[in-house]
Amino acid sequence: MAEAQNLLLYNTLTRRKEEFVPLDAQSVRMYVCGPTVYDYAHIGNARPVVVFDVLFRLLRRLYGEKHVTYVRNITDVDDKINARAAEEGVSIRELTERTARQFHEDIKALGVLPPTIEPRATEHIEEMKALIEALIANGHAYVAEGHVLFDVPSMPDYGKLSNRSLDEMAAGARVEVAPYKKDPMDFVLWKPSKKGEPSWASPAGISEPGRPGWHIECSAMAGKHLGDVFDIHGGGIDLVFPHHENEIAQSRCAHDTKVMARYWLHNGFLQVEGEKMSKSLGNFITIHDLLKDWSGDVVRFNMLRTHYRQPIDWTKKGLEESKATLERWGEISDRVGGALSKNAAPDVGVIDALKDDLNTPLAITRLHEMAKECRSNGDSAADTWLASAAFMGFDVARWRSPVQTADLVEVTDPDLALRVKSLVAQRADARKAKNFKEADRIREELATSGVVLKDAKDPQTGEIVTTWELAR
Ligand code: AMP
Ligand code: ZN
Repeated sequence: MAEAQNLLLYNTLTRRKEEFVPLDAQSVRMYVCGPTVYDYAHIGNARPVVVFDVLFRLLRRLYGEKHVTYVRNITDVDDKINARAAEEGVSIRELTERTARQFHEDIKALGVLPPTIEPRATEHIEEMKALIEALIANGHAYVAEGHVLFDVPSMPDYGKLSNRSLDEMAAGARVEVAPYKKDPMDFVLWKPSKKGEPSWASPAGISEPGRPGWHIECSAMAGKHLGDVFDIHGGGIDLVFPHHENEIAQSRCAHDTKVMARYWLHNGFLQVEGEKMSKSLGNFITIHDLLKDWSGDVVRFNMLRTHYRQPIDWTKKGLEESKATLERWGEISDRVGGALSKNAAPDVGVIDALKDDLNTPLAITRLHEMAKECRSNGDSAADTWLASAAFMGFDVARWRSPVQTADLVEVTDPDLALRVKSLVAQRADARKAKNFKEADRIREELATSGVVLKDAKDPQTGEIVTTWELAR
């Protein structure tokens, strides 16, 4: 496919933008570290999910839907999960199932496609044990006091991804120095479980049951579903060290390969109103809470206005600007009768921007230009514009105002149409906030102008869609 050429991606491993060339264009393979499911996902967690969704969409476009495998895991065994389940007095399974379900609902609202495979750590324990056995057998891991540890000095080029030498790391590291470690940098592959913690029969002849360390989970899931060497590995910048460094060490030493993944991509960090997001500062924003005040499209748009490698400062002002843009686009879409045409292809400028290391701000600039063209040239430009926005994951079908008879009235009385549209939106907000008194008041106010509202449930989404007509 000619279009697949010139996809440039910044590779953390080489510290430069490189042309992406897959190992096999018939089977392009990407792994992204997914959430640890113990609590609602926050807006920082949403960043890699949205960013790599854009890359997934782009790869599918360039190589064909059937030729791209995207694996994003769910970490459902972790100390934080154990602690939270005990705190709430629920079973671990109940907590992880509930949290995973909530995560799926949240990111679906952000227009995120499901990955091709979503493996769960607890379903890959045998694969983890096999990797651990292989590492012991070839001298890269050892057993000590019921633990299995990775022997970091056994791998001379450990630290290549984060660009640190072993000596530097040893000097600067604040790793917990347990007495059973041969070297302070050695990290856990397997550890004993205390009573009540999830446990499995241990590998390597260890008699007590135990559980895996975090890093080995991703090596096992990536290896099983994508092979010993694959194309792209992604995650947030905070994962470069130690998580990704350790994934690389485990996978390369177990499989005796030169690389684990060939392109390593990392999104920048997100902070809130200029401060690091943290529970103690009280500025911890979950996707779930955001979606009470803002549409999924506004959240997605606000995320993609910043290039994925830059830090984002997540602010209310930014959300308001994003909302205003989408409202303007909704009005233009309404005016040009914007219905998404199945055959329309996205704009070349948008695709080219994304092919340059996922330059979403530039792609959005292009969407702005196209919106302007639509406003002046009408529907001839609308197909490509809407197809481009849909390609970036925006829910353009909902951009149309819920007032479906507005077009007719607009011809005779544009002011009325605008007023009704705004009041219908206010009423929808009031209903969402369960302020039914206000919702009824708006209905009555409109009735005095001869406008009759009709609410109907959208059979697909279950949402209430309001239409209106003038009383005869
Ligand atoms: P965790 O559940 O903490 O392992 O994080 C899941 C994903 O979210 C990882 O790829 C993290 O790098 C990413 N992540 C966590 N916090 C932030 C943040 N504030 N900004 C950007 N990415 C984040
Ligand atoms: Zn991982």
